[in-house]
Amino acid sequence: MTFVIGDKCLGERYATCVEVCPVDCIHPGEYEDQVFMIIDPDECIDCAVCAPECPIDAILETEDDDPKWTEINAQLAEAFMQNEPVEARPANEPPRKPENQLR
Ligand code: SF4
Repeated sequence: MTFVIGDKCLGERYATCVEVCPVDCIHPGEYEDQVFMIIDPDECIDCAVCAPECPIDAILETEDDDPKWTEINAQLAEAFMQNEPVEARPANEPPRKPENQLR
């Protein structure tokens, strides 16, 4: 089991989770021409500290919560881990997407 970043992150990417991850396994990139981030399933130690840091609840606790985005996280991991870190957005900044479009 591993934590997974779901599609709520797509186009948002607060990156507030990155600062708390003890093994630096959360990596930024772009997917479908939108900013995104993934959790590398090979590195994640399931410590759970990242999930409460996400202001839009985009981090899922297990693969079972969303098998499709679990697969996407795994597929993008190798490419995203090459990317430079990004600056975090303030957690109190409103989401870019209207609430009803946060999938
Ligand atoms: Fe990092 Fe822990 Fe979140 Fe895994 S569960 S991504 S190790 S903070």
